[in-house]
This record gives sequence, structure tokens and C-alpha cells, in this order.
Amino acid sequence: MVKSARFPVIKTLDTFDFSLQPSINEKLVRELMTGEYLDRKENILLVGNSGTGKTHLASSLGFAGCMQGRKVRFFTVKVLVTHLLEMTEQRQLERTLRQLERQDLLILDEFGYVPFSKTASELLFEVVSRAYERQSLIVTTNLPFDSWTEVLGCERLTGALLDRLTHRVHIMKANGPSYRLRESKRRLKQNRPDTDDPPDHERDDRQVYPN
Ligand code: ADP
Ligand code: MG
Repeated sequence: MVKSARFPVIKTLDTFDFSLQPSINEKLVRELMTGEYLDRKENILLVGNSGTGKTHLASSLGFAGCMQGRKVRFFTVKVLVTHLLEMTEQRQLERTLRQLERQDLLILDEFGYVPFSKTASELLFEVVSRAYERQSLIVTTNLPFDSWTEVLGCERLTGALLDRLTHRVHIMKANGPSYRLRESKRRLKQNRPDTDDPPDHERDDRQVYPN
């Protein structure tokens, strides 16, 4: 079950530090972990900049779903759309969409980093449209709603997609700092040799990394 969900990495809430993202409602996240939103076919939208824990939260929710025996499938939006385009070429689109429909939860990670072709936008719309009131979606994005048209290219399609996605939705915004950035700054401070350190010849060993 967990394997077929294809999470990039297994993440759970045990390792999520809510104090770093005060805009994320911990109580809501914990309630969502029970999976009842899946029975109600509600969606979850995680909005925030890079490194704010969106994928971590989405994966934790997905993992919890798996543990409860739900069928979960994780995709980055880019991988999903590329796959659907390929399946269209192979005349397998309908079959693939039906496979997706059999999931209880689809996680669509990273909406917004790449602009879509017209066909790609229509394919994503098809997935969201078929999921409407039948399955739950978790979508993560760095983009506010008014920028979604720039990715999808068409205002009407964006409106229709957002309409379905947000009809029954829990929206969570992560406004805190990037965890990745925070970690690499900390490593530098701790004078721990790491990939973020400058190459040896650029290093000033006198003062730059105090002990
Ligand atoms: P995003 O998807 O928003 O770009 P990620 O979820 O990939 O961010 O987070 C980047 C890394 O930082 C991951 O390893 C993740 O586990 C970790 N991380 C992010 N936010 C937190 C947090 N609040 N507590 C603990 N780890 C976090
Ligand atoms: Mg991410």
C-alpha cells in the first residue's frame, strides 16, 4: 500500500516542527490526519514558498491515509501531466484516468513551477474535474490563486478548475521561513564541513567560522 503510493520520501508529523510555521493550524492538521476528510471527499491545498514544509505535510497526510488502508498516489504535477501526455499519445488516456479515479487520495505536488501547454492544462483539469466529489486531492503550490492563470494559460479553465478544487477545501498557508535555508545557515554557523561550505581555497580560516 505505502509502496504503491510512491512517496518521494516517507515523512510523518513526528518530525514536523509546527513552531516554525505558526500560520499552519496544527489542530487542523491533526484532525486531517484522522482521514475523515477523505470520506467527505474534501480537498487540501497547501500554499507557501519553497522549503516551508508543504511536501512534508502532504506526504505525512498521504502516509497516514495509507496506514488507514486508503489508496493513495503521490505525483508531482509535472510528472503527472507528462505521464498523461504520454498516455494520450499511446491512446491510453482513458485507461490511465480510470486508474487514477480508483485512488481515494491523489497528491499533486508543486503546482506552479512550470507553465503548461494548452493540452497539459486540459489534462490537469480533467483530473481535478473527475476527482470532484469522488476523491480527495491534496495540492501544494507556491502560487496565490490570482497567478494560476499564468500557469494554466486560460482564465476560463482556471476558474473552472479552482471552482471544483476549492468547493470543499481546507486551505493552509505556510508563511514562515524556508526550513532548507535555515538548516544550511545553521550548518555554516556550526562550522560543520558540508556541501554549502565554500571550496578550500576560498576559505578564510582566521575568522569566518568562529567556534
Ligand atoms: P516545500 O515542499 O514547501 O518546498 P519541504 O516539505 O520539501 O518543503 O521541506 C524541505 C525540507 O525541510 C524537508 O526535508 C522537510 O522535511 C523539512 N521541513 C520543512 N519544514 C519543516 C518543519 N516545520 N519541521 C521540520 N522539518 C521541516
Ligand atoms: Mg515541495
